[in-house]
Amino acid sequence: MKKSPQKQKLEQMLHSSRIVAGGFMGTDTRSIDEIIDADLARLDRLGKTATEIAQKMQQITDAACRGLGEWVKIDDRRQAMVDEAKGIMVCPWPHPGRFCKRLTFVKNVDTGTQIRWSDLNIHLIGEHGFFEGVGSEFRIEPIGLVELIFDI
Ligand SMILES: [Zn+2]
Repeated sequence: MKKSPQKQKLEQMLHSSRIVAGGFMGTDTRSIDEIIDADLARLDRLGKTATEIAQKMQQITDAACRGLGEWVKIDDRRQAMVDEAKGIMVCPWPHPGRFCKRLTFVKNVDTGTQIRWSDLNIHLIGEHGFFEGVGSEFRIEPIGLVELIFDI
């Protein structure tokens, strides 16, 4: 199928290293639609939607903010911490979307498993179903994320 000019422009943006070091696609050679479809299919098997996941991520980030940079107890199994940085990150999709450069770190206190996300990750997952390309610095593996933030 021929790609629309908008989709071509988006993919160019996502590959660009000017936005984030390494871009959003990493070393992934799949198209943006293929990446999104494959990750959403994984979520489907886990019985979670991208919207549910983004909501849960946002709740954890909001709770972690109260710690002002220290680890905060989220529940009996999880702790989270935020790291605020100056500057903004911009959603590469063609709509206004600017996010502060805040990172949330979440860990499972039993296993030590840890994942971090940016505010932009939450938006990309919730609005676009995009976990980023394999090899991208901010790629989040959907299965690991679901296992970490939900009790499944
Ligand atoms: Zn967006």
